[in-house]
Amino acid sequence: MALPVLKHYINGEWVASETKTFGDVWNPARGEKIAQVPYGTAADVDRAVQAARAAFPDWRTTPPITRARYLFRLKEAFEAHFEEIARVLTREQGKVIDEARGEVRRMIENVEHATAVTTLMCGYSLEDIAKDIDCAGYRQPIGVFAAIAPYNFPAMVPWWFLPYAIVCGNTFVLKPSEQVPMTQSRIFEILDEIGLPEGVVNLVHGSREVVNAILDHPDIAGVSFVGSTPTARYIYERCGATGKRVQALGGAKNVVAVMPDAKLDLAMPSLITSYYGCTGQRCLSGAILAPVGDVADRLIERFTAAARAVRMGDGLDEKTTMGPLVSAAHRQRVLGYIEKGIAEGAKLVLDGRNPKVPDCPNGFFVGPTVFDDVTPDMTIAREEIFGPVVSVIRCRSLEEVIELVNSRGFANAACIYTTSGRTAREFRYRVKPSMIGINIGIAAPMAYFPFGGAGNSMFGDIKGHGQEIFHFFTDTKVMIERWM
Ligand code: NAD
Repeated sequence: MALPVLKHYINGEWVASETKTFGDVWNPARGEKIAQVPYGTAADVDRAVQAARAAFPDWRTTPPITRARYLFRLKEAFEAHFEEIARVLTREQGKVIDEARGEVRRMIENVEHATAVTTLMCGYSLEDIAKDIDCAGYRQPIGVFAAIAPYNFPAMVPWWFLPYAIVCGNTFVLKPSEQVPMTQSRIFEILDEIGLPEGVVNLVHGSREVVNAILDHPDIAGVSFVGSTPTARYIYERCGATGKRVQALGGAKNVVAVMPDAKLDLAMPSLITSYYGCTGQRCLSGAILAPVGDVADRLIERFTAAARAVRMGDGLDEKTTMGPLVSAAHRQRVLGYIEKGIAEGAKLVLDGRNPKVPDCPNGFFVGPTVFDDVTPDMTIAREEIFGPVVSVIRCRSLEEVIELVNSRGFANAACIYTTSGRTAREFRYRVKPSMIGINIGIAAPMAYFPFGGAGNSMFGDIKGHGQEIFHFFTDTKVMIERWM
């Protein structure tokens, strides 16, 4: 049977790409192809940008509260299709259905938060900055913005940007990950029902050619990117060269510290979720586990026992607690890191290389894996693996943990389990990463707080969502007035 071929959404219509190149979309739990995605061209991007550009003048003069009302309608439409979006997501990405539901909820929360535009887009003013002279700053939309998304959160990540951009009066072009393009295609079908003016939002599928066309297009004012650090750095540099606003969120190598005073019973469920939730394919996932002092043996024994109980399978099965990796290529990459860990002398205490997943013999699975006796200089302690592989680095003191965290080039998130407020405060105060969990294994800011890291985990200054994003999508025009 022929596979469905996805289309772009441009100027309110579903259109075929100009391309002759297509990629396969997979169900990673089953190891089956489920669709074909066009690798769009620069001409496709230009078509979308021209539509967005044409829509901008009317959209920017539409009152913010009216623009927000489209988002209220969108929220209702997403709620009505909630379960269906989650199922499309699980089928192409692999994460378990409850994780997909959580992701769709986070997506909708961004739509909700963006409706606060009439408060959060306000400028400010001051009378009498000099005798009889007043000053006012207005926040104005800028034009066409674009976002380029990663594969690990196909529903949520584009919505860290899209609703804020359009509610501020800009128009938008989205390029989802070519590995998981079906989720946004379904989301845009739902969006099509709410009657947004044509051209306000556009969807272009593809890979590098689409990205490069976005980066070079003279009519795109700014780019929001989320993905790996090498790509983030490239996006940032290229946007600098072409004079665009840019926020580029990159990869991670997150340390989770466990102090001797931590309550292990309470910590264990969230620790397991930190490392194995979404099969370790979260930018907030724990990667390094850092027990401090004499908690190490107890912790590793209990953690490994809990890891063995993870149940792998098709994420659409409600009993599954961990899905596959996204692709065969990514599974190979993760297996390569496990081999490297062994070669460099780390002690493999739980081996996920040959998992038994009877219902899904062709899926791209790697089982929960734990390395003990990892040292900070080993490859598996430095590079992002993005899979269910835990590197345990035993530390002697809080000081050593802080040094460990701050010596990774990445600085996305860091967590600590402790019952001491003083220890927690010291940790939060001194570590470089900008998303901190205290007795929390995934330090995920909600839509109304900024999402993004520091160091090599984030290029640019304004992060995803939060209040600050209204600044990314607007320019402040200052008027200084005197009436004679
Ligand atoms: P990726 O960098 O491979 O791809 C991201 C996007 O960039 C995709 O749309 C892809 O088509 C495009 N792309 C990839 N290589 C490119 C190139 N050479 N030139 C131009 N475009 C290119 O990332 P991924 O594998 O899809 O996603 C996983 C990564 O994203 C991980 O590193 C993860 O940590 C990171 N991530 C970070 C955050 C965060 O908030 N910091 C959130 C989610 C994911």
